Amino acid sequence: MADEQQYDYDVLVIGAGPGGYVAAIRAAQLGLRTACAESRETLGGTCLNVGCIPSKAMLHASELYDHAANGAMAKLGIKTQVELDLETMHGQRRDAVKQLTGGIEYLFKKNKVAWLKGRAAFEDAHSVTVGDQRVTAKNIVIATGSSVTALPGVTIDQQVVVDSTGALELPRVPDHMVVIGGGVIGLELGSVWRRLGAKVTCVEFLDQILPGFDGDIRKESNKIFKKQGIEFKLSTKVTNVAVEGGKAVLTLEPAKGGEATTLEADCVLVSIGRRPNTDGLNLEAAGLATNQRGQVEIDHDFRTKVDGIWAIGDVVPGPMLAHKAEDEGIAVAENIAGQHGIVNHDVIPSVVYTWPEIAGVGLTEEVARERGEVKVGKFPMMANSRAKTNHEPDGFVKVIADAKTDRVLGVWCIATVGGTMIAQAAQAMEFGATSEDIAYTCHAHPTHSEAIKEAAMAVTGKPIHI
Ligand code: FAD
Ligand code: NAD
Repeated sequence: MADEQQYDYDVLVIGAGPGGYVAAIRAAQLGLRTACAESRETLGGTCLNVGCIPSKAMLHASELYDHAANGAMAKLGIKTQVELDLETMHGQRRDAVKQLTGGIEYLFKKNKVAWLKGRAAFEDAHSVTVGDQRVTAKNIVIATGSSVTALPGVTIDQQVVVDSTGALELPRVPDHMVVIGGGVIGLELGSVWRRLGAKVTCVEFLDQILPGFDGDIRKESNKIFKKQGIEFKLSTKVTNVAVEGGKAVLTLEPAKGGEATTLEADCVLVSIGRRPNTDGLNLEAAGLATNQRGQVEIDHDFRTKVDGIWAIGDVVPGPMLAHKAEDEGIAVAENIAGQHGIVNHDVIPSVVYTWPEIAGVGLTEEVARERGEVKVGKFPMMANSRAKTNHEPDGFVKVIADAKTDRVLGVWCIATVGGTMIAQAAQAMEFGATSEDIAYTCHAHPTHSEAIKEAAMAVTGKPIHI
């Protein structure tokens, strides 16, 4: 049997995103000699550098601007004279990124995780080159994340045609931004620039926005975004984007075929999804291949088919979410250390950080009904005292429970603090709660969360406030 000391490390993690850096820290905490290779200049991956964090910095700032500029504050008796200082707004975004990526560097030092700077490629199942260095490890975790999916024939120049990274950094507010794809990125970043004054048109291939979300939630979100001024072209595909003199002309076609039309814009955001990062990783040298979707396949314990190689995060099948990657990072490290790391993939919350927020966990009503008989309770935010008092009437909460056992199968909501509210639903579902358990849990008053309690009461037909 191989002597463990023959390896440079017990664990080498490739990629320092929320999956990889968390795996590396947990492995080190468990006493394993750990290194993490990262090709970016800073740690934190997509999430901290160009994803969750900078997008939330722009969403938060633009939300306050919108409230001040568009009358919401005036309604509360706060008169303002508002001026946009976009450079300062970008500055606070860059600052948030700098502080948080620097924080991971501190945590690596504190936990004695070696940071190997450079792009990693397999030489064999236990050796990797990182830049001009060769390192060996008993266990290797692939946590290389994902990158923007390109639209065939459309060049992203980060000036007129941008991806999410370019859309976070626009030096001026576009007059007309066309967002290709009505998914999470399109709606979040489209909302940022709409709030700051751009006309925004969203072109979505499907007949409704936000695929994967509950049907009622998709319809209601669409109505709310329209009311806010985003224009939608559903069931429409973009077949060409021609750029000339700083302007783009998009060719649009009905998704099911028909006559093409054109649309002019001075900024086009391509947000049609993300694809796993495996280019240049030389997986074949380790005996691995990707599946048809470019992902690295794993089993329940995050093992690939090659002994000693594990994979987590956006590069493996499942939703591309930072918190899912983080939980997998903890679990994989615990499994490598001989413990029992588990992630319950049935209970991964999803949140769209718009205003109001859109959140869900578990099954949609459509999928739940395919699987068996269900009972559904709904409660409008309009009838929630806190939301009403705060002038936040849009949205509702929906609780879906098994008709026989009353076990909660899914919870969905549109509410200004929906992202925070959904945590209690996830926790209840982890504990196998019934709708009655939620309905009889005392919720503080007045809070938006009371709407979850009332929706749970509505499952058996007995909410108090409607
Ligand atoms: P990543 O974060 O992509 O990290 C992988 C790292 O590996 C990268 O830093 C990359 O440089 C490095 N790497 C790749 N190949 C190599 C190699 N060969 N050698 C060395 N290093 C390599 N998710 C949420 O949950 N909430 C949000 O609010 C949210 N907002 C988002 C907003 C935007 C604009 C985007 C683009 C994404 C957002 N996401 C959000 C998704 C989230 O960022 C990802 O799900 C998450 O970052 C995945 O983590 P990961 O560790 O798997 O990969
Ligand atoms: P997405 O998969 O959420 O949405 C892409 C949308 O583009 C879909 O609605 C799809 O039907 C549409 N589309 C695809 N091809 C098209 C075409 N040719 N023309 C018009 N529409 C087209 O992808 P995204 O918004 O790019 O986000 C990528 C990933 O990043 C997601 O998996 C998401 O989980 C993650 N993310 C999460 C958050 C969050 O959790 N708040 C925020 C941003 C990104």
